[in-house]
Amino acid sequence: METGDERRPAWKQLYIGGEWTAPVDGEICQSIDPSTGEPWAEVALGGPADIDRAVEAASDAFTGTWGRMAAWERAAILRRFADLYQKEAPRLAELETRDVGRAIRETRMDVGAHSQWYHWFASLADKCEGQTLPLERGIHAFTTRQPLGVVGAITPWNVPLLTACWKVGSALAAGCTVVLKPSEYTAVTSLELAGIAEAAGIPPGVINVVPGMGRGAGERLVGHADVAKISFTGSGATARKMLADGAGNLKRFTFELGGKAAHILFDDCDLDAAINAATSSAWAHCGQACALGSRVLVHRNIYDRVVEAFSMRQKSVRVGLPQDERTHMGPQAHAAQLEKSLSYVEIGKQEGAELVAGGKRIEGALSGGYFIEPTVFCNAHNSMQIARDEIFGPVATIIPFDDEEEALRIANDSDYGLTAGLWTKDVGRALRVSQEIEAGIVWVNTYRYLRWSTPYGGFKASGWGRENGTSALEPYQDVRTTVMSASGQFSNPYEN
Ligand code: NAD
Repeated sequence: METGDERRPAWKQLYIGGEWTAPVDGEICQSIDPSTGEPWAEVALGGPADIDRAVEAASDAFTGTWGRMAAWERAAILRRFADLYQKEAPRLAELETRDVGRAIRETRMDVGAHSQWYHWFASLADKCEGQTLPLERGIHAFTTRQPLGVVGAITPWNVPLLTACWKVGSALAAGCTVVLKPSEYTAVTSLELAGIAEAAGIPPGVINVVPGMGRGAGERLVGHADVAKISFTGSGATARKMLADGAGNLKRFTFELGGKAAHILFDDCDLDAAINAATSSAWAHCGQACALGSRVLVHRNIYDRVVEAFSMRQKSVRVGLPQDERTHMGPQAHAAQLEKSLSYVEIGKQEGAELVAGGKRIEGALSGGYFIEPTVFCNAHNSMQIARDEIFGPVATIIPFDDEEEALRIANDSDYGLTAGLWTKDVGRALRVSQEIEAGIVWVNTYRYLRWSTPYGGFKASGWGRENGTSALEPYQDVRTTVMSASGQFSNPYEN
């Protein structure tokens, strides 16, 4: 693997079985820089035959080196990988910013933390303990955990390295091997991840990286009989199709899907802090993150002040080239997402919500890229499409409520249930509301606080299973119960 700019040729190859190899039934495609709309890199996309090669390599590694390795040895290799990843993090952040369009100040914080995640997963590798089960005298029973086998990790375009980290780190620590299929839109940094794995001495076949289209490469991975599990982050529509495609061998699935989080501001909250959190979590990453609080529910006593604060704050968001250190918000990651966000601005207006700020594509020097203004709708209600659908753009929809009961009802009136936030100084209310909200993670007087030790995943249509936390490896393992008799006696049931 080459380094720096000379690495570019490697992006035109897949990483399979420890080798860099041209796609056999895929293609070389151009990756578009979302801040210019121009191609900036050439990237290999694999096809079904490439997925077959990768699964074979992963199966061989599972039955061979990786599968036979002691858990502590796997952990040591993962720690080496984590350290190398940390050294490469600044460069990875720059590449991800270029490919995805996320402002460098955000990407640096995101990517800079990944090695902590990898270390966390490594620390769990040799702690996959079983139980001894108390039974009658002479019977000894215990459980052991064993890795499932080959895992297909399928990731979205918005945060390719973070989603790869959660899946690859936990699968490898659990003893599985991986075929990582990043999104066709933003595959560059996942190929870079393969280079780091190679340099860190992760054995051939343990991690294979095959970017590819969903239809074709993705479908083949999901349908493959030798893949034991799919760990997927993406849309609910894709997850539903995967359930059918993976039915052949009754595959396991972990699904991290969309969100439409309620961010509730009660009238007794620290308003400055709440506004900081609510505005940043509506517009971070140009609205392209599943955890963002795009439904801002505000008590009627403070509603006008909050709407005013949103519209003032909107003016101070510096939208610009994502590589610029001063930029707060870069472009949308691809043209179709920009179109989607703009279409929801029109939908919101037609539904009768009041457009307070933003809503337009940015012209002038930035007109070649997929830039959109941070956008605020007020006087919205929860039955509007802008309050129900995941827009994945920087669109905040501010909805008034009169009391705690109504806030909860609105918050839970959603197909989704990934994250939620609430701001109040009343401890009793914080406890009551946080325990009634239908969401996998609830933030109280903070927002988007995520660490390796905090389990993450959704209720309802936001997904199945959890990533991170002390149980992060369990979805990648099976439990075997062994029951032994000390006496070896077994009576003949047909004697009498
Ligand atoms: P998507 O479902 O279109 O694609 C995600 C991945 O699935 C891509 O790699 C794609 O190529 C692949 N894919 C598509 N169709 C496939 C098929 N039939 N078989 C196999 N693979 C297929 O989603 P997206 O547009 O890339 O990502 C945005 C979505 O991801 C949003 O809904 C967002 O909320 C969600 N997301 C969720 C989380 C989370 O942690 N819950 C994090 C990030 C993004």
